[in-house]
Amino acid sequence: MEKRGLTCISCPLGCDLEAEVSADTVTVTGNRCEKGVVYAKAEVLNPQRVVTSNVLVEGGLSPLVSVKTSAPIPKGLIGKMIQELKNIRLHAPIRIGQVLIRDLLGTGVDVVATRAVELLPTAQSGPSPIPISHPIDVCVKL
Ligand code: SF4
Repeated sequence: MEKRGLTCISCPLGCDLEAEVSADTVTVTGNRCEKGVVYAKAEVLNPQRVVTSNVLVEGGLSPLVSVKTSAPIPKGLIGKMIQELKNIRLHAPIRIGQVLIRDLLGTGVDVVATRAVELLPTAQSGPSPIPISHPIDVCVKL
């Protein structure tokens, strides 16, 4: 029999839970409601997390776009997911909410953009509003 201490994150009360695991049963104590039991069982048997990260973007106003999984994925796949994201190069423009990877690692979960990245203005589209050689005045209020 294994005992695990957990803090329920299903509501701000944050009950201190104890999960007793034996064979194929999980007994939960310390919960003030049924959500604590559901949380502890999921945490012991198949912990999952929504994962946030960044992906490189080419041709955009920002070199990175923030992303997240559209639903929780098994904790054991987080390392593989981060590795997948490191190998990706996206092309601007990117819309907020755009699906960037469908069915990540066969989980049925997508990776979506959590911010937009506009196209970098090119030389053909007119002069830059602030030429690089132009001295930039910085005003700091103290
Ligand atoms: S067990 Fe219920 S009351 Fe306690 S933190 Fe979880 S959701 Fe909130």
